[in-house]
Parts: sequence; structure tokens; C-alpha cells
Amino acid sequence: MDSKKVVDAMTLEEKIKMISGKDFWHLSDLPRFGIPAIMLTDGPHGLRKQAVSDDHLGIGKSVPAVSFPTAVNLASSWDPELVENVGRALGTHCVHENVSVLLGPGVNIKRSPLCGRNFEYFSEDPLLTGHIAAAWIKGVQSQGAGTSIKHYALNNQETRRMTINVLVDERAMHEIYLAGFKYAVEKVKPHTVMSAYNQVNGQYASENECLIEELLRNRWGFNGIVVSDWGATNDRVDGLNAGLDLEMPGSSGVHTRAIKKALKRGSLSIKTLDQSVLRILELIRESEKKRSNTRLDLEQQHNLAGKVAAESLVLLKNVQNTLPLNKKTTVAVIGSLAKKLRYQGSGSSRVNPTKLPSILDILKQRQIFYEFQQGYFLTDDHCNEKMLNEAIQVASKHNTIIVFAGLPEHYESEGFDREHLNLPAAQNRLIEELSRLNKKMVVVLLGGSPVIMPWLNKAAALLNSYLPGQAGAEAIIDVLYGDVNPSGRLAETYPLSLADTPCYTSFACEKHHQPYLESIYVGYRYYDTAKKEVLFPFGYGLGYTTFSYHSLSLSAREITDSNTLDVEVTISNDGKRSGKEVVQLYVSMPESKIFREAKSLRAFKKINLQPGQKETVTFTLDRKDFAYYNPNIADDHVETGTYEILVGSSSRHIHHSASVFVQSTEQHIPVPEIYQTLKNYHNLSQAGHSFTVEAFKQLYEKPYPEEPDREYVTINTPVYDMQHHFIGRKLYKMIENQARKMNRDNTDSSVMVNRILKEIPLRSIVYMSQGKLSLAMADGLVDIINGKTCKGLCTIFKGMIGI
Ligand code: BGC
Repeated sequence: MDSKKVVDAMTLEEKIKMISGKDFWHLSDLPRFGIPAIMLTDGPHGLRKQAVSDDHLGIGKSVPAVSFPTAVNLASSWDPELVENVGRALGTHCVHENVSVLLGPGVNIKRSPLCGRNFEYFSEDPLLTGHIAAAWIKGVQSQGAGTSIKHYALNNQETRRMTINVLVDERAMHEIYLAGFKYAVEKVKPHTVMSAYNQVNGQYASENECLIEELLRNRWGFNGIVVSDWGATNDRVDGLNAGLDLEMPGSSGVHTRAIKKALKRGSLSIKTLDQSVLRILELIRESEKKRSNTRLDLEQQHNLAGKVAAESLVLLKNVQNTLPLNKKTTVAVIGSLAKKLRYQGSGSSRVNPTKLPSILDILKQRQIFYEFQQGYFLTDDHCNEKMLNEAIQVASKHNTIIVFAGLPEHYESEGFDREHLNLPAAQNRLIEELSRLNKKMVVVLLGGSPVIMPWLNKAAALLNSYLPGQAGAEAIIDVLYGDVNPSGRLAETYPLSLADTPCYTSFACEKHHQPYLESIYVGYRYYDTAKKEVLFPFGYGLGYTTFSYHSLSLSAREITDSNTLDVEVTISNDGKRSGKEVVQLYVSMPESKIFREAKSLRAFKKINLQPGQKETVTFTLDRKDFAYYNPNIADDHVETGTYEILVGSSSRHIHHSASVFVQSTEQHIPVPEIYQTLKNYHNLSQAGHSFTVEAFKQLYEKPYPEEPDREYVTINTPVYDMQHHFIGRKLYKMIENQARKMNRDNTDSSVMVNRILKEIPLRSIVYMSQGKLSLAMADGLVDIINGKTCKGLCTIFKGMIGI
């Protein structure tokens, strides 16, 4: 029977059942129509198919799977083809495990280096994000599994992610935060989109009509299903009306009454409900139809993970060719991370790796002689003098020291953000002390996000490995010893200090409303416009050979916005090794009338050149590459004028430029005056940190909401914030007990579990309680906490008898 006919034959109860999950990981089934309960599961850096079905925090065991390099590594490879191969491998594993949808990729923009989940996101730049995401999706879906691009949208911080309200101006929303989603959705059609937890401009993302219905479906042509992030549903009827098809996990019928009531009142139409059911049935049919016959070879996948990791490592410093090292020289290896590699992030993306060789294992395997000392405890920020001295003693015996340093799990994870950019004090002290020995000191960094490096000028070489997956150790040794010529490039800027970051004053502030004061000035768009010095710029990375850029040429000096422009540049490998270069093209409009970033990435290509070889790269630019988002027409618009085409090897290493005059074919488009007059967003270099709430309010243009009264409780208030009342304290005690249980066997994840449970709103507890706590009960409790005891008791009573 076709899906449409099934919908017509279904009862209302069955329809309502279909739009909510059966459990944590499965969709509802309907045996009488032969509809199976298909499975959705995390990802995205490997398959996380769990045996125990009610743990989505990633702390329970899952089937062994290859842990691939994390998203930040994939983006640092700047190689969509390679990423597509990773996608293919993941898709194959999904099919073999009968998983229909892999929950990824995460394409939120890195607004601040502090976001605890940055390791799961690609970049601070939307173009790079979109291209890497599209490649990943294409790869997974080529095998017949679906994907779920997430978290749509503006989930750029972990702090209070389930309740905060992001305030973002329209231009920044489109140019920065939605552009990656749009590109991937239009280009490769992910089967599903996962809506985020947070609110966007006053509406939960899971019931945001503008995001789902208007943009995703109507403008970008998305016809797959929209699924809520786990526990992100707020008002189910509003969600359905806005286009949210599927609620995950299942909420055991908690919304049935509200949906029926809405249908009766006419605030929800049966057509809307049917449409969601139909989309879900289509997804099920689709996933039943396509089965890959690719053989699953986990050993081969491990090798692929190693290859990709090696391509993603970013060599940031290499004084006098310190690297590559000579395999015949004995080295001192210092740092616990060499023994226990940090290879993946914490939270729902945690994979149970098929194997996990350490740096020491690989050195042994390759017969490279070393002496090892731990130097610090990864779980302790404070310096252990005994360990420090032992490390110094061993290091002083060798000419080359390799120090492994990085962020521990309790510093970065899903569920909370970092508070600073420092490495643990014990590690900084260790590196400082080792540097005093005046040896060749190579630092290898692990961790998902930028850190500050007070010892940088004392290191001879610095290799940034991020979280490189289970084959990371092999990749690191490959690069350190020159078996692989490093070719990773930063997909984000490394700032000099936290205070330099564009959202320093507004990121994860202790408020309900989170204004994105910096607007479009995210990452290098800010640093380059404000001409701020940085530690390492966006796009930067070294290798063991050198490249020259020659003869940039444009196909025209003048075009209209309906023409395309070809840009040609020739690159040569001038060194003695073969190597890869990432050619980056940025566009700039210095004489723009509106505020603009100094430059933005518009194209890139990774090329492989033998020593002495030359290659000409051609980029084709079109309208969208010169456009800015104009809210007056709710679309892109090209400003007439002269644009600079900049080609280089990072946002700060531009080797050639040329200009082109672009004539708009839409002459009479009104440009928002505020873009021309709002001084705070012009001349950043002079104004510095000029992003104030007052200026933002003008840019925002919508009414700026008042901060809600913290004492006034709603069903969306985190239970932790209800503790001024004894009911709140009691509820929170129950949550603490739950946290204790979850942490008993998993101390590694305890910081995350505690933070997630601390911030969870009452509504999510209702939806995830599998019927133990009803909505009426929660509403009643809220009334009682707010001092309306009689009303509260009445609500609870009515709920109990079902009126
Ligand atoms: C995360 C998602 C994840 C889901 C299922 C949520 O908490 O935000 O990224 O896919 O859980 O584990």
C-alpha cells in the first residue's frame, strides 16, 4: 500500500502515535500496516548504537564502532572528498547494524571558542561548514542510511541550551548561522533535520515557523522530516503547526490530549497532522528500500580513520625544520596523553572504539626508541611536583622532547561550556619547566578547541591534533616522523586571549536572552576587520614543503550580478617533498556603503603537488559570492561596486589580489539605513569592542524583550532554579539522586551529567518520564511554586481524573 493510502486508513490514535518515538532510539511501528520501528542513533563520529535504550548522554556502552576523527578534524582537512569517504564508511556501518538514520552532522557555527561542543562542529565559517557537511551527508546517504543535520538552529552554546532565547539580527542569522544548513540542505538533501533545544528570537527552534516552514521547507525546498532534538519539544501542537514532524524520544502519549483538543478547536488541522505522518511513513519506506551491499570491514575503516586523521592535523609551528623527526633518534616522550590519548569528545557523540592504540604503542610498534614520563595527571589541574621532577629528569637526558598536552574531558564536553581558554595549570607549568632545558621541544596538542599557549615562543614545533579519533596515535606519529606531510589548516581562528573574542561580553551570559551583539563579525570576520592580532589565523597551517602562488587572473574586469566570474591562479610546489596545499579564495568590498567584514571565504581547493609541479586552479564565482543578506527583500542582494578577489593560504596570508566591478541588476532595492549609519559596526579597527546592547537593539529591529523574573516559575524553568520553594528542592533532590546513579560507573562524564541535569527544564522531565509525571501535575506544581496553591491543586486533581 502506498504511504498516502496508509495515512488515510489510520485511526487518529495511530497517527498521534506515529509522530512520537516508540522509545529513545526507535520510531513507532504499526504492525497492522507492516510498518517497522526503524532506528535513529548517534553519531556523528562513528556509530553509537546502544544496547540500553534510555541513555542518550553517551555514558552507556554501545556496539564497537570505529571512532573517526571528530568534526573539527574533518573540517581541518579542508577536503570534502575525504570527508565523503568517512560518510560512506559510517553509512555502511549503519546499514549493517540496521540503523536508518545517523544523527549528524553538527553544523552549528563556532561563535566562541568556549562552546563545549565545538569539537562536534566544523568551523567558524559557514562556507567551509556547508561544504564539509554536504560531503559527509552525501557519503552516509550513498549507502542507503539517512542523516539528520543538526542542531537547527543557533545552538552555539551549551550553557542553558534547553531554555535560552537567542536574539540574532536577520542578516547575521542568514549570512552566518543558517548558511551552512542551507547549502547542505539544497545540495544533498539530508533525510532529516534536527531542530535545536534553544529558542530563536522568542520561539523554540522546534516550533519556529520562520525556521522550519518558511525557510527550510518553502525557501530551501526541504521535503524530509524535521525531528526534535532529544527532549527539545515544547508545545507539541505549536510544533506541528510550525512543521516539526517527529518528537524524539517518545513521550508516552503525553501530548495526545492536547493534540485532540487542538484538532477539535481547529487550532490544528488534520491536514497538518496527516502531512507529518506521511513524511514519517515516507522516511520509513525509504529506509526499508535501500540497503547497501558494501562489505563492512572495521579494520579497513580503522585505516581510513588514520588516513583522515593524518590529513587533519595542523602543523602550527616548525622552527628550522624541527619536524619531521629522525626515527633513529631516541626521544623523551612526556605527558599522560601519550599513554591515554584523548581522541573523541564527551557526550552523545561518544563511540565505543574497536581499538585504541596509544602513542607509546605506536612508537614501540615502529621501533622508535623513547623514554616516557607522565608529567601530570589528566584529571588534576594542579601540578604534581614529583611527576614534574621525574619528567624533567628524563627529558634532560635527550635532545628532543615531545610533550603531549591538551584539554581533559572535564574541561570540554557536550552539556557545558568552558570558562577560559587555558590548559590545566599543571600542563602549562610542565611545558615551561621543560623549555628551560633548552632542548628541541615539540608540543603535540589534543583537545577540541583553541587554547592559549603562554609557552609558544619556547616550543620548536607545535602540532595541533584536535580529537583525531581512534587511529589518532598512528596519524600523529606519521606526521611527526614525516611519513605524512601535514596538510591540515585551521577551520577557526586561535585568538590571543579570551577578551579578544568578538562575543566576549555576551557569550553564555547568565541571562535568559542571549543577544548576538557582534552580528556578522564571527571568527576571522571580526579579527580581520578589527585588525586584531591573533595567535593563528583562520585557514593557517604549515607542511614540510613550500608553495608559491603565481599569476592570478580574472575572466573579466566588469560583470553584472547575473554573470559568473572565473578566477585562475597557478600554484607551484617549490620544496623537495610532495605535499598538499589548501588554496583559499576570499572576497572583500573595501568601499562598501554598508558595514561588512574585511573578507569572507568564497571558495577553496585542496591540491596535491609533487616537488617542482605546478597546477592552475580555477574557481567560478557567481552572484551569491558578492551578496549580503538584505532583510528588506528577505533575500541576497549585490551592492554595485568594486570587489577585491583575494587568494591566499590563510585569511592573513593573501598572496595575490585583483579587482572586479560588479553591477547589480536590481538597482532600486532599499538598503537598511541602519547598515549604513550604525557606527558601532563600521570601522571596527578603531572602535574595538563596540558591540553594545544599545547598538544591537537598533540592528535587531524587533522589540527587544525584557529579562523574565527569575522567581516566576514556568514549565520551562530548569528545576534547579525552583529551589526557593520546597517543591523545587524536593524535585531537584530527585534529579540529584538520578545523577548519582548515572555517575556511579562513569566518573569521566560526571561533570556533564551534573550540568545537563541541573539545567533541564521541568517540561523535559515530563516528556521523558514515560508517563510518571503528567503535564497536569507539572502545571499544578508550577502554580503552587508561584503561590497559587488552590489553582495548582485543582489543576493536579483535574489531571488525575482526566478533565
Ligand atoms: C544531542 C543530540 C543527540 C541527541 C541524541 C541530544 O542531547 O543534542 O546531538 O543527537 O541528544 O543522543
